[in-house]
Amino acid sequence: MRWQRNVVRLALLALALPGQGARADYMDHFVVRDDVGPHKAPSLGKAELLVIPVEVKGFRPFDRAALERFFSADDPKGFVQYYETASLHRYHPHVTVAQTVVFDTCPLPEAQFPGCAVQRADLGALLPGLEMIREVMRRARALGGFTFGQLDVNGVAGKSDGWADGVMILTNSPFGGIALPFGFYNTGDNLNGGTGGPMILDGTRVGHVAIGGSGNAHVLVHEFGHLLGLTDLYAESDTYRGLDLSVMGSWPYDDRIPLPDAETRYRLRWGNWHQVAGTRTVVVQPAETSGEVWRLGTGQEYWLVENRGPGVFDGLVTSRGLALFHVDRTVKLAGEEGRFQDRSLNPVNDDPWRSYIMWVQADGAFHVQHDSPPDWEFDLFRDGDSWGPSDDTAPFSGTHAVFSSNTYAGAKTGLGLHDVKVRPDGAIEVTFEAPADGQCDERLCDQGDGCAPVSCQAPATTPPRSGCGTVLLPPLAVAALVWARRRRVSAS
Ligand SMILES: [Zn+2]
Repeated sequence: MRWQRNVVRLALLALALPGQGARADYMDHFVVRDDVGPHKAPSLGKAELLVIPVEVKGFRPFDRAALERFFSADDPKGFVQYYETASLHRYHPHVTVAQTVVFDTCPLPEAQFPGCAVQRADLGALLPGLEMIREVMRRARALGGFTFGQLDVNGVAGKSDGWADGVMILTNSPFGGIALPFGFYNTGDNLNGGTGGPMILDGTRVGHVAIGGSGNAHVLVHEFGHLLGLTDLYAESDTYRGLDLSVMGSWPYDDRIPLPDAETRYRLRWGNWHQVAGTRTVVVQPAETSGEVWRLGTGQEYWLVENRGPGVFDGLVTSRGLALFHVDRTVKLAGEEGRFQDRSLNPVNDDPWRSYIMWVQADGAFHVQHDSPPDWEFDLFRDGDSWGPSDDTAPFSGTHAVFSSNTYAGAKTGLGLHDVKVRPDGAIEVTFEAPADGQCDERLCDQGDGCAPVSCQAPATTPPRSGCGTVLLPPLAVAALVWARRRRVSAS
């Protein structure tokens, strides 16, 4: 949301530091992907996180009990249960709420930040912001009740790596939300007798920090997503609202937290990925409980389908149906370390007609792209809806928006979906169409959850019986596929 973007604009332009080698991956807010530790928090396995409440006198004090509950495992709609659900219980955060750090006056210079508020497009805010973060860490450490050392139980290899698993700050003052690669920008005190780089507290490095303001803990659900490497999916331009259906997209930071979109779950390896080959009639279970992601097409441009509707989360989605996303991994893919400000100012979903993750609405009217709010009953694929190829092979654009499974360039793909039926129990029957050959070879990684499709209808094998959407290949067959074809999906 716009207020949340205030601080994103910080001094972003002012500190356009030269990047190092180009190591691009656009799911990565901090730009570099395989860099758990210095640039992002681990997103699989157990993790020890910290929230530091910061109270500035004169603003509404925290309700500590409410805050502690939101970050405990006991709140069914809280932070922990959200990430447990979204990750299909592959990520297990435990959050310590630190002693409240109290400032008698605003920790930002009053002359520059009247009312302690960070104004939009304030290019001078970054350096005072870094100083404020440093002071908060200093005071939190002095208050005790925890040690930064306890915050490192996970890392790139799934174990302690010298980097904190995740640190968040929540202020009661109007400090907009941001996730900041502190270590990249820091040229001052590292709190360990040194200068520059990450802070080092109790021997543990803190390289990045997520911040929320106005006492709204829901903002930290989004900002923490950045620490996991996720990028913003709302639109910074005023052309439209950006991506609905995602915690990183358009959401008013209330208790109707959206699940991550299918591409986000797929990339974080939080989904059960099914790849479609040939004609396949299946039952798609709700994403919230099954983690199912159905992928149509291969390479850098493909489509993802998931079953979305109201549950414990996704309260904004008032009707149940299949959400269809057109993913284009070539959109704004280039990036360099530290250039996260580029994607903050020019987010990947800014162009409604050529976004990284485009929501294809079932009614074919593209009214969300025309800046209208979702009309869920007609925008999700429900009974009678279908999607498929078009003979109009002119390139897709805002002035030539053809509702079809053709690529942005206009080429036919052989993909489609039809015979949708939403069952009373929330499961959805559908028949998918995809080319029969060459669909089953791609992998996200070599081994582990989410690396390979849990099902793919390979043409050479006996077709599975129709009507069964959750056919699991025998584990040995999956393992054989994984080891036989060590291919990565993307070239990034
Ligand atoms: Zn954000």
